[in-house]
Amino acid sequence: MPSLSNESLQAALEQRKEKHLYRSRKIVSGRHSIETIIDGVPVLSFCSNDYLGLATHPNVIKVLQQAAEDLGLGSGASHLVSGHNHTHHALEEELAEFVQRERALLFSTGYMANLGVISALLGRGDCLYEDRLNHASLLDAARLSMAQRLRYTHNDTQALDSRLSTNNQSKRLIVTDGVFSMDGDIAPLPEIASLARKHEAWVMVDDAHGFGVLGKNGGGSLEHFGLNSDDVPILMGTLGKGLGSFGAFVAGSNALIETLIQQARPYIYTTALPPAVVQATRTSLKLVTEESWRRDKLNSLIQRFRHGAQQLGITLTASNTAIQPIIIGQSDAALQASDTLLSSGIFVSAIRPPTVAEGSARLRITFSANHSEGHIDQLLLALENTL
Ligand SMILES: *Cc1c(COP(=O)(O)O)cnc(C)c1O
Repeated sequence: MPSLSNESLQAALEQRKEKHLYRSRKIVSGRHSIETIIDGVPVLSFCSNDYLGLATHPNVIKVLQQAAEDLGLGSGASHLVSGHNHTHHALEEELAEFVQRERALLFSTGYMANLGVISALLGRGDCLYEDRLNHASLLDAARLSMAQRLRYTHNDTQALDSRLSTNNQSKRLIVTDGVFSMDGDIAPLPEIASLARKHEAWVMVDDAHGFGVLGKNGGGSLEHFGLNSDDVPILMGTLGKGLGSFGAFVAGSNALIETLIQQARPYIYTTALPPAVVQATRTSLKLVTEESWRRDKLNSLIQRFRHGAQQLGITLTASNTAIQPIIIGQSDAALQASDTLLSSGIFVSAIRPPTVAEGSARLRITFSANHSEGHIDQLLLALENTL
């Protein structure tokens, strides 16, 4: 019988190291911006999800400081007890208006929003259809809900169609990332929405990497395709990536949001976000709405990188978003490449299984509107010397 002991834990850790799958944390001592300090060394970073560079925007910081004065730090309780501040309420209304839905509901994290929605809507005997490359939180949500999980081949709408055809349980929900977090490609949402209509299922999109970044106005992958709430009744967006802050929201109909308030356990049984952070996020949302130049600049940086990489003979994926992976293959080789880049002052993290499939370890490069063309050229030069 295997038993829990420090010795057995240590043995498993050693095995993990031998397979080059050991995860360790690098300590950031500078600001969380493109230029920072990692383990004491100044670097140029290409691995944050702060795509618009709003995490360090001076207006956001000023509002945060003032709100901390006015409101304090913690909310002190969950939303349903005494933690629901007027700032939470105002941000929910602003988010709902921004994505053109009846209501929005704040969650403390995107991970919890996914658990909350899926476990509130589905139970034993219901069916959840998931893209194979969906985020871990969506896979975990299936377990919490006890619904049957049916995974379909990545972005393969024919596979989804046949999955939906063979099964006819009472409640059916299709859930997909809008932009896939480790690949950067966009889900075929118009086709998915029409399959949902054909098979009488609902669709939920996790737009963690699209919200604020894609679409002319930053509305995300739904705006990118011109889809509305009839096509995709449930939209989840996070506030820690494109908005440079923290937290998440779910947007949809009044009935959906009220159901979540009544039934989503990861909403009900957790402390509400710090109100000062929420107040600062309102400023982030304003910047996203009013200043589209960050999205334009980000896109031109992405194009510059792709063009330059192709000239160097570096194989890229089909991604056109700010997530530009370079597939290396083996975990040790990916780690080695990341270390070599770091020693030349370029920070790009290596992503290994089980986050990505076996044999597809990669450098996950991400861009920010705060990068300059010169930064892209620096990255390309370092890649040329490394790969
Ligand atoms: C980051 C991420 C989440 C989790 O959001 P947090 O707010 O960081 O918990 C959920 N889904 C996807 C696709 C993500 O990339």
